[in-house]
Amino acid sequence: MERKMIGDKTLDEWIQERPLLEKMITGDEVFWSNPFYQPFDIAVEKISLDEIHIKDAEERLKRFAPYISKVFPDTQKTEGIIESPLRKMPGMAQRLSEEFGGNITGSVLLKCDSHLAISGSIKARGGIYEVLKHAESLALQHKRLTTDDDYTLLDNDKFREFFSHYSIAVGSTGNLGLSIGIMGAQLGFQVFVHMSSDAKQWKKELLRQKGVIVVEYQADYSKAVAEGRNQADLDPNMHFIDDENSTDLFLGYAVAASRLNRQLKELNITVDEEHPLFVYLPCGVGGGPGGITFGLKQLFKDNVHCFFAEPVSSPCMLLGLMTQLHDRINVRDFGLNNKTDADGLAVASPSGFVGKALGEMISGVFTVQDTTLYKLLCMASDMEKISLEPSALAGMPGPFTLFHTADGKCYLEKHGLLEKMPGGTHIVWATGGSMVPPDIMKAYYKKGTEVR
Ligand SMILES: *Cc1c(COP(=O)(O)O)cnc(C)c1O
Repeated sequence: MERKMIGDKTLDEWIQERPLLEKMITGDEVFWSNPFYQPFDIAVEKISLDEIHIKDAEERLKRFAPYISKVFPDTQKTEGIIESPLRKMPGMAQRLSEEFGGNITGSVLLKCDSHLAISGSIKARGGIYEVLKHAESLALQHKRLTTDDDYTLLDNDKFREFFSHYSIAVGSTGNLGLSIGIMGAQLGFQVFVHMSSDAKQWKKELLRQKGVIVVEYQADYSKAVAEGRNQADLDPNMHFIDDENSTDLFLGYAVAASRLNRQLKELNITVDEEHPLFVYLPCGVGGGPGGITFGLKQLFKDNVHCFFAEPVSSPCMLLGLMTQLHDRINVRDFGLNNKTDADGLAVASPSGFVGKALGEMISGVFTVQDTTLYKLLCMASDMEKISLEPSALAGMPGPFTLFHTADGKCYLEKHGLLEKMPGGTHIVWATGGSMVPPDIMKAYYKKGTEVR
Protein backbone atom coordinates (compact mmCIF):
# COMPACT_ATOMS: atom_id res chain seq x y z
CA MET A 1 0.00 0.00 0.00
CA GLU A 2 1.24 3.46 -0.86
CA ARG A 3 1.73 5.68 2.14
CA LYS A 4 1.09 9.36 1.98
CA MET A 5 4.13 11.41 2.85
CA ILE A 6 3.91 14.59 4.92
CA GLY A 7 7.20 16.30 4.17
CA ASP A 8 9.71 13.46 4.35
CA LYS A 9 7.80 11.33 6.85
CA THR A 10 4.67 9.21 7.02
CA LEU A 11 1.97 10.09 9.50
CA ASP A 12 3.04 7.20 11.73
CA GLU A 13 6.60 8.46 11.76
CA TRP A 14 5.40 11.95 12.68
CA ILE A 15 3.33 10.56 15.53
CA GLN A 16 6.31 8.65 16.81
CA GLU A 17 8.45 11.76 16.72
CA ARG A 18 5.80 14.14 18.09
CA PRO A 19 3.62 12.16 20.50
CA LEU A 20 1.28 15.15 21.07
CA LEU A 21 -0.05 14.44 17.58
CA GLU A 22 -1.82 11.38 18.87
CA LYS A 23 -4.07 13.50 21.07
CA MET A 24 -4.53 16.10 18.35
CA ILE A 25 -5.65 13.51 15.84
CA THR A 26 -8.34 12.21 18.17
CA GLY A 27 -9.70 15.74 18.63
CA ASP A 28 -8.49 16.33 22.19
CA GLU A 29 -7.63 19.82 23.36
CA VAL A 30 -3.87 20.19 23.71
CA PHE A 31 -1.29 22.73 24.85
CA TRP A 32 2.00 22.87 22.97
CA SER A 33 4.95 24.75 24.29
CA ASN A 34 7.13 25.78 21.34
CA PRO A 35 10.54 24.03 21.50
CA PHE A 36 11.86 26.45 18.86
CA TYR A 37 11.10 29.52 21.02
CA GLN A 38 14.12 31.83 21.36
CA PRO A 39 14.99 35.03 23.22
CA PHE A 40 13.83 38.06 21.26
CA ASP A 41 17.31 39.18 20.17
CA ILE A 42 17.83 35.86 18.39
CA ALA A 43 14.27 35.33 17.16
CA VAL A 44 14.10 38.77 15.55
CA GLU A 45 16.84 37.89 13.07
CA LYS A 46 14.36 35.70 11.19
CA ILE A 47 12.21 38.63 10.16
CA SER A 48 13.13 41.47 7.84
CA LEU A 49 10.53 43.91 9.17
CA ASP A 50 11.19 46.15 12.15
CA GLU A 51 9.87 49.01 14.28
CA ILE A 52 10.25 51.51 11.46
CA HIS A 53 7.75 49.60 9.36
CA ILE A 54 5.25 49.54 12.23
CA LYS A 55 5.74 53.28 12.82
CA ASP A 56 5.12 53.92 9.13
CA ALA A 57 1.83 52.02 9.32
CA GLU A 58 0.85 53.92 12.45
CA GLU A 59 1.57 57.26 10.75
CA ARG A 60 -0.46 56.25 7.71
CA LEU A 61 -3.44 55.40 9.91
CA LYS A 62 -3.11 58.82 11.53
CA ARG A 63 -3.19 60.51 8.12
CA PHE A 64 -6.41 58.70 7.35
CA ALA A 65 -7.99 59.34 10.76
CA PRO A 66 -9.85 62.54 9.76
CA TYR A 67 -11.31 60.75 6.73
CA ILE A 68 -12.32 57.68 8.77
CA SER A 69 -13.92 59.89 11.39
CA LYS A 70 -15.88 61.69 8.69
CA VAL A 71 -17.22 58.68 6.80
CA PHE A 72 -17.67 56.33 9.79
CA PRO A 73 -19.22 58.51 12.51
CA ASP A 74 -18.85 55.61 14.98
CA THR A 75 -15.17 56.46 15.09
CA GLN A 76 -15.66 60.11 16.03
CA LYS A 77 -15.15 59.46 19.71
CA THR A 78 -11.68 58.02 18.96
CA GLU A 79 -11.01 60.72 16.36
CA GLY A 80 -10.92 58.31 13.47
CA ILE A 81 -8.53 55.87 15.11
CA ILE A 82 -10.00 52.37 15.00
CA GLU A 83 -9.14 50.96 18.41
CA SER A 84 -10.87 48.68 20.90
CA PRO A 85 -11.27 48.83 24.67
CA LEU A 86 -9.06 46.88 27.06
CA ARG A 87 -11.07 45.93 30.11
CA LYS A 88 -10.86 43.94 33.30
CA MET A 89 -13.09 40.90 33.62
CA PRO A 90 -13.13 39.77 37.24
CA GLY A 91 -16.53 38.07 36.91
CA MET A 92 -15.49 36.00 33.92
CA ALA A 93 -12.12 35.15 35.48
CA GLN A 94 -13.92 33.83 38.55
CA ARG A 95 -16.30 31.73 36.45
CA LEU A 96 -13.40 30.40 34.40
CA SER A 97 -11.68 29.24 37.60
CA GLU A 98 -14.79 27.36 38.62
CA GLU A 99 -15.35 25.87 35.17
CA PHE A 100 -11.78 24.74 34.53
CA GLY A 101 -11.17 23.88 38.18
CA GLY A 102 -8.05 25.77 39.07
CA ASN A 103 -6.89 29.18 40.07
CA ILE A 104 -4.88 31.58 38.04
CA THR A 105 -2.75 34.33 39.52
CA GLY A 106 -2.23 37.77 38.06
CA SER A 107 -4.93 39.90 36.50
CA VAL A 108 -6.97 38.85 33.48
CA LEU A 109 -8.01 41.42 30.90
CA LEU A 110 -10.12 41.25 27.76
CA LYS A 111 -9.04 43.03 24.57
CA CYS A 112 -12.32 43.74 22.81
CA ASP A 113 -11.47 43.66 19.10
CA SER A 114 -14.97 42.25 18.82
CA HIS A 115 -15.99 45.88 19.19
CA LEU A 116 -13.64 47.51 16.74
CA ALA A 117 -15.51 50.06 14.66
CA ILE A 118 -16.48 49.54 11.01
CA SER A 119 -16.27 45.74 10.79
CA GLY A 120 -16.53 44.35 14.32
CA SER A 121 -13.49 42.08 14.28
CA ILE A 122 -9.71 41.98 14.46
CA LYS A 123 -9.75 42.28 10.63
CA ALA A 124 -10.58 45.96 11.07
CA ARG A 125 -6.87 46.31 11.83
CA GLY A 126 -5.04 44.56 8.99
CA GLY A 127 -7.76 44.50 6.36
CA ILE A 128 -8.70 48.15 6.56
CA TYR A 129 -5.06 49.17 6.77
CA GLU A 130 -4.15 47.42 3.54
CA VAL A 131 -7.09 48.98 1.67
CA LEU A 132 -6.10 52.45 2.91
CA LYS A 133 -2.48 51.92 1.98
CA HIS A 134 -3.48 50.80 -1.50
CA ALA A 135 -5.78 53.80 -1.94
CA GLU A 136 -3.07 56.17 -0.74
CA SER A 137 -0.43 54.80 -3.07
CA LEU A 138 -2.75 55.05 -6.08
CA ALA A 139 -3.72 58.62 -5.22
CA LEU A 140 -0.10 59.65 -4.59
CA GLN A 141 1.09 57.94 -7.75
CA HIS A 142 -1.48 59.82 -9.82
CA LYS A 143 -0.68 63.09 -8.04
CA ARG A 144 -4.18 63.49 -6.70
CA LEU A 145 -2.99 63.62 -3.11
CA THR A 146 0.04 64.54 -1.04
CA THR A 147 0.76 63.16 2.41
CA ASP A 148 0.36 66.69 3.81
CA ASP A 149 -3.25 66.96 2.61
CA ASP A 150 -6.27 66.70 4.82
CA TYR A 151 -7.49 63.25 3.79
CA THR A 152 -11.15 64.17 4.28
CA LEU A 153 -10.89 65.30 0.67
CA LEU A 154 -11.06 61.61 -0.27
CA ASP A 155 -14.72 61.73 0.64
CA ASN A 156 -15.64 63.18 -2.69
CA ASP A 157 -17.28 61.97 -5.92
CA LYS A 158 -14.15 62.76 -7.91
CA PHE A 159 -12.10 60.43 -5.76
CA ARG A 160 -14.76 57.73 -5.78
CA GLU A 161 -14.82 57.95 -9.56
CA PHE A 162 -11.03 57.68 -9.65
CA PHE A 163 -10.98 54.60 -7.40
CA SER A 164 -13.85 53.00 -9.35
CA HIS A 165 -11.36 52.29 -12.14
CA TYR A 166 -9.51 49.99 -9.75
CA SER A 167 -10.62 46.86 -8.01
CA ILE A 168 -9.67 44.80 -5.01
CA ALA A 169 -10.02 41.03 -4.57
CA VAL A 170 -9.76 38.95 -1.43
CA GLY A 171 -10.49 35.39 -0.28
CA SER A 172 -12.12 35.08 3.12
CA THR A 173 -14.04 32.98 5.62
CA GLY A 174 -16.08 36.11 6.33
CA ASN A 175 -14.50 38.74 8.53
CA LEU A 176 -11.64 39.75 6.26
CA GLY A 177 -14.17 40.10 3.46
CA LEU A 178 -16.26 42.38 5.66
CA SER A 179 -13.34 44.69 6.45
CA ILE A 180 -12.02 44.89 2.91
CA GLY A 181 -15.49 45.11 1.40
CA ILE A 182 -16.83 47.85 3.66
CA MET A 183 -13.68 49.97 3.48
CA GLY A 184 -13.06 49.37 -0.21
CA ALA A 185 -16.65 50.15 -1.22
CA GLN A 186 -16.65 53.31 0.88
CA LEU A 187 -13.62 54.63 -1.01
CA GLY A 188 -15.23 53.76 -4.34
CA PHE A 189 -13.32 50.63 -5.32
CA GLN A 190 -14.98 47.73 -6.99
CA VAL A 191 -14.49 44.89 -4.50
CA PHE A 192 -14.67 41.15 -5.10
CA VAL A 193 -14.87 38.93 -2.04
CA HIS A 194 -14.32 35.23 -2.64
CA MET A 195 -16.09 33.46 0.22
CA SER A 196 -15.46 29.95 1.50
CA SER A 197 -18.38 27.63 2.20
CA ASP A 198 -18.17 28.25 5.96
CA ALA A 199 -18.76 32.00 5.59
CA LYS A 200 -21.97 33.07 7.30
CA GLN A 201 -24.94 34.11 5.20
CA TRP A 202 -25.42 37.41 7.05
CA LYS A 203 -21.84 38.45 6.21
CA LYS A 204 -22.47 37.82 2.51
CA GLU A 205 -25.73 39.74 2.59
CA LEU A 206 -24.24 42.69 4.39
CA LEU A 207 -21.50 42.94 1.78
CA ARG A 208 -23.90 42.71 -1.12
CA GLN A 209 -25.88 45.58 0.41
CA LYS A 210 -22.71 47.65 0.25
CA GLY A 211 -22.30 46.92 -3.45
CA VAL A 212 -19.53 44.35 -3.00
CA ILE A 213 -19.46 41.41 -5.39
CA VAL A 214 -19.52 38.21 -3.35
CA VAL A 215 -18.40 35.03 -5.09
CA GLU A 216 -19.32 31.84 -3.23
CA TYR A 217 -17.51 28.50 -3.20
CA GLN A 218 -18.45 25.09 -1.92
CA ALA A 219 -14.89 24.70 -0.74
CA ASP A 220 -12.80 25.97 2.13
CA TYR A 221 -10.73 29.10 2.68
CA SER A 222 -7.65 28.01 0.68
CA LYS A 223 -9.78 27.60 -2.45
CA ALA A 224 -11.40 31.02 -1.96
CA VAL A 225 -7.96 32.63 -1.62
CA ALA A 226 -6.63 30.80 -4.69
CA GLU A 227 -9.59 31.99 -6.78
CA GLY A 228 -9.11 35.59 -5.65
CA ARG A 229 -5.44 35.37 -6.53
CA ASN A 230 -6.23 33.95 -9.99
CA GLN A 231 -8.73 36.67 -10.70
CA ALA A 232 -6.30 39.44 -9.75
CA ASP A 233 -3.48 37.89 -11.79
CA LEU A 234 -5.53 38.52 -14.92
CA ASP A 235 -6.24 42.18 -14.23
CA PRO A 236 -3.46 44.76 -13.76
CA ASN A 237 -5.89 47.19 -12.12
CA MET A 238 -6.92 44.66 -9.51
CA HIS A 239 -5.14 44.50 -6.18
CA PHE A 240 -5.19 41.13 -4.45
CA ILE A 241 -5.14 41.19 -0.68
CA ASP A 242 -3.15 38.12 0.15
CA ASP A 243 -4.11 36.97 3.63
CA GLU A 244 -1.55 34.18 3.41
CA ASN A 245 1.46 36.36 2.63
CA SER A 246 0.76 40.08 2.90
CA THR A 247 3.16 42.17 4.94
CA ASP A 248 0.77 45.15 4.78
CA LEU A 249 -1.96 43.20 6.54
CA PHE A 250 0.62 42.03 9.04
CA LEU A 251 1.82 45.58 9.78
CA GLY A 252 -1.74 46.81 10.15
CA TYR A 253 -2.19 44.26 12.93
CA ALA A 254 1.18 45.11 14.48
CA VAL A 255 0.08 48.70 15.20
CA ALA A 256 -2.11 47.25 17.97
CA ALA A 257 0.95 46.92 20.21
CA SER A 258 1.82 50.56 20.84
CA ARG A 259 -1.85 51.33 21.40
CA LEU A 260 -2.15 48.48 23.87
CA ASN A 261 0.91 49.82 25.66
CA ARG A 262 -0.89 53.15 26.15
CA GLN A 263 -3.97 51.38 27.47
CA LEU A 264 -1.89 49.35 29.91
CA LYS A 265 -0.30 52.54 31.22
CA GLU A 266 -3.74 54.09 31.70
CA LEU A 267 -4.65 51.09 33.84
CA ASN A 268 -1.35 51.45 35.76
CA ILE A 269 -0.23 48.03 34.60
CA THR A 270 3.52 47.54 34.36
CA VAL A 271 5.17 45.11 31.99
CA ASP A 272 8.80 44.37 32.83
CA GLU A 273 11.01 41.52 33.92
CA GLU A 274 9.17 41.16 37.23
CA HIS A 275 5.73 41.68 35.67
CA PRO A 276 5.34 39.39 32.65
CA LEU A 277 2.57 39.80 30.12
CA PHE A 278 0.76 36.81 28.59
CA VAL A 279 -1.37 37.24 25.51
CA TYR A 280 -3.77 34.67 24.05
CA LEU A 281 -4.64 35.14 20.39
CA PRO A 282 -7.11 33.18 18.22
CA CYS A 283 -5.30 32.06 15.07
CA GLY A 284 -6.61 31.32 11.60
CA VAL A 285 -4.03 31.74 8.86
CA GLY A 286 -1.79 33.55 11.35
CA GLY A 287 -1.52 37.13 10.06
CA GLY A 288 -3.61 38.72 12.81
CA PRO A 289 -2.08 37.01 15.82
CA GLY A 290 1.32 37.08 14.08
CA GLY A 291 1.26 40.81 13.46
CA ILE A 292 0.16 41.54 17.02
CA THR A 293 2.83 39.22 18.42
CA PHE A 294 5.48 40.92 16.32
CA GLY A 295 4.40 44.38 17.53
CA LEU A 296 4.27 43.29 21.16
CA LYS A 297 7.65 41.58 20.96
CA GLN A 298 9.23 44.75 19.56
CA LEU A 299 7.94 46.63 22.59
CA PHE A 300 8.21 44.17 25.45
CA LYS A 301 10.79 41.68 24.11
CA ASP A 302 11.23 38.72 26.47
CA ASN A 303 8.69 40.08 28.96
CA VAL A 304 5.73 39.24 26.73
CA HIS A 305 4.64 35.68 26.00
CA CYS A 306 2.26 35.14 23.09
CA PHE A 307 0.16 32.02 22.73
CA PHE A 308 -2.01 31.20 19.73
CA ALA A 309 -5.37 29.42 19.99
CA GLU A 310 -6.85 27.18 17.29
CA PRO A 311 -9.86 24.87 16.92
CA VAL A 312 -9.08 21.17 17.45
CA SER A 313 -10.12 20.45 13.86
CA SER A 314 -8.05 23.28 12.28
CA PRO A 315 -4.73 23.49 14.16
CA CYS A 316 -2.85 24.55 11.03
CA MET A 317 -0.32 26.86 12.70
CA LEU A 318 0.43 24.30 15.39
CA LEU A 319 1.02 21.57 12.80
CA GLY A 320 3.07 23.91 10.61
CA LEU A 321 5.31 24.93 13.52
CA MET A 322 5.59 21.51 15.06
CA THR A 323 6.64 19.85 11.80
CA GLN A 324 8.49 22.96 10.58
CA LEU A 325 6.73 22.38 7.26
CA HIS A 326 4.64 25.57 7.66
CA ASP A 327 2.39 26.19 4.65
CA ARG A 328 3.30 22.78 3.24
CA ILE A 329 0.96 21.06 5.68
CA ASN A 330 -2.79 20.68 5.49
CA VAL A 331 -4.73 19.61 8.57
CA ARG A 332 -6.39 16.92 6.41
CA ASP A 333 -3.01 15.18 6.07
CA PHE A 334 -3.44 14.43 9.77
CA GLY A 335 -6.97 13.14 9.44
CA LEU A 336 -8.57 16.36 10.68
CA ASN A 337 -11.50 17.83 8.77
CA ASN A 338 -11.16 21.63 9.20
CA LYS A 339 -14.80 21.79 10.23
CA THR A 340 -15.53 24.23 13.01
CA ASP A 341 -18.13 26.84 13.89
CA ALA A 342 -15.24 29.21 14.53
CA ASP A 343 -15.39 30.41 10.92
CA GLY A 344 -12.54 32.93 11.23
CA LEU A 345 -10.30 30.06 12.29
CA ALA A 346 -11.38 27.43 9.77
CA VAL A 347 -8.08 27.37 7.93
CA ALA A 348 -6.38 24.15 6.82
CA SER A 349 -2.90 25.48 5.92
CA PRO A 350 -1.14 28.35 7.71
CA SER A 351 0.42 31.47 6.24
CA GLY A 352 3.65 30.79 4.41
CA PHE A 353 5.41 33.65 6.05
CA VAL A 354 4.12 34.01 9.61
CA GLY A 355 5.26 30.59 10.84
CA LYS A 356 8.69 30.96 9.29
CA ALA A 357 9.24 34.56 10.40
CA LEU A 358 7.77 34.22 13.90
CA GLY A 359 8.45 30.57 14.61
CA GLU A 360 10.89 31.54 17.35
CA MET A 361 8.74 34.32 18.87
CA ILE A 362 5.53 32.38 19.46
CA SER A 363 5.58 30.86 22.94
CA GLY A 364 3.10 28.11 22.23
CA VAL A 365 -0.22 27.06 20.74
CA PHE A 366 -3.26 25.45 22.34
CA THR A 367 -6.40 24.00 20.81
CA VAL A 368 -10.06 24.34 21.75
CA GLN A 369 -13.16 22.28 20.97
CA ASP A 370 -16.24 23.97 19.56
CA THR A 371 -18.27 22.90 22.59
CA THR A 372 -15.81 24.78 24.79
CA LEU A 373 -16.19 27.88 22.60
CA TYR A 374 -19.98 27.79 23.00
CA LYS A 375 -19.76 27.32 26.75
CA LEU A 376 -17.42 30.29 26.99
CA LEU A 377 -19.68 32.33 24.73
CA CYS A 378 -22.50 31.97 27.27
CA MET A 379 -20.21 32.76 30.16
CA ALA A 380 -18.92 35.92 28.49
CA SER A 381 -22.46 36.99 27.77
CA ASP A 382 -23.63 36.27 31.35
CA MET A 383 -20.66 37.60 33.27
CA GLU A 384 -19.37 40.41 31.09
CA LYS A 385 -22.45 41.28 29.03
CA ILE A 386 -20.38 41.04 25.89
CA SER A 387 -21.43 39.42 22.61
CA LEU A 388 -18.66 37.40 20.99
CA GLU A 389 -18.70 35.09 17.99
CA PRO A 390 -17.40 31.54 18.55
CA SER A 391 -13.91 32.18 17.10
CA ALA A 392 -13.45 35.12 19.43
CA LEU A 393 -13.50 32.88 22.50
CA ALA A 394 -10.66 30.62 21.48
CA GLY A 395 -8.11 32.53 23.56
CA MET A 396 -10.19 32.38 26.73
CA PRO A 397 -8.91 29.05 28.12
CA GLY A 398 -5.33 30.31 27.65
CA PRO A 399 -4.42 31.26 31.22
CA PHE A 400 -5.74 27.93 32.46
CA THR A 401 -3.87 25.85 29.95
CA LEU A 402 -0.71 27.67 30.97
CA PHE A 403 -1.19 27.02 34.69
CA HIS A 404 -2.80 23.61 34.58
CA THR A 405 -1.31 21.54 31.75
CA ALA A 406 2.02 19.76 32.15
CA ASP A 407 3.49 21.59 29.15
CA GLY A 408 2.18 24.93 30.37
CA LYS A 409 3.77 24.50 33.78
CA CYS A 410 6.99 23.44 32.07
CA TYR A 411 7.00 26.68 30.09
CA LEU A 412 6.58 28.76 33.24
CA GLU A 413 9.31 26.87 35.03
CA LYS A 414 11.75 26.91 32.16
CA HIS A 415 11.50 30.70 31.85
CA GLY A 416 11.67 31.33 35.58
CA LEU A 417 8.13 32.72 35.61
CA LEU A 418 6.46 30.77 38.43
CA GLU A 419 7.28 33.19 41.24
CA LYS A 420 6.49 36.19 39.05
CA MET A 421 2.95 35.14 38.22
CA PRO A 422 1.17 37.08 40.98
CA GLY A 423 2.45 40.29 39.39
CA GLY A 424 1.67 39.16 35.85
CA THR A 425 -1.06 40.14 33.44
CA HIS A 426 -3.06 37.96 31.07
CA ILE A 427 -4.76 39.43 28.03
CA VAL A 428 -7.36 37.36 26.23
CA TRP A 429 -7.83 38.75 22.72
CA ALA A 430 -11.54 38.67 21.84
CA THR A 431 -11.46 38.91 18.07
CA GLY A 432 -15.00 39.36 16.76
CA GLY A 433 -18.71 39.49 17.43
CA SER A 434 -20.28 42.92 17.72
CA MET A 435 -21.79 42.76 14.23
CA VAL A 436 -23.43 39.35 14.62
CA PRO A 437 -27.21 39.84 14.15
CA PRO A 438 -29.17 39.43 17.43
CA ASP A 439 -31.12 36.34 16.31
CA ILE A 440 -27.91 34.55 15.37
CA MET A 441 -26.31 35.55 18.65
CA LYS A 442 -29.35 34.14 20.44
CA ALA A 443 -28.93 30.84 18.60
CA TYR A 444 -25.23 30.74 19.60
CA TYR A 445 -26.19 31.38 23.20
CA LYS A 446 -28.79 28.63 23.13
CA LYS A 447 -26.23 26.20 21.78
CA GLY A 448 -23.95 27.16 24.65
CA THR A 449 -26.61 26.39 27.23
CA GLU A 450 -27.18 23.00 25.61
CA VAL A 451 -23.54 21.91 25.81
CA ARG A 452 -23.14 23.09 29.36
C1 LIG B 1 -9.50 36.18 11.08
C2 LIG B 1 -9.87 35.98 12.47
C3 LIG B 1 -8.95 35.53 13.42
C4 LIG B 1 -7.54 35.11 13.10
O1 LIG B 1 -6.79 35.91 12.25
P1 LIG B 1 -5.81 35.25 11.17
O2 LIG B 1 -5.09 36.37 10.58
O3 LIG B 1 -6.66 34.51 10.17
O4 LIG B 1 -4.95 34.29 11.92
C5 LIG B 1 -9.39 35.38 14.71
N1 LIG B 1 -10.64 35.67 15.08
C6 LIG B 1 -11.56 36.13 14.20
C7 LIG B 1 -12.93 36.43 14.67
C8 LIG B 1 -11.20 36.30 12.87
O5 LIG B 1 -12.11 36.74 12.01
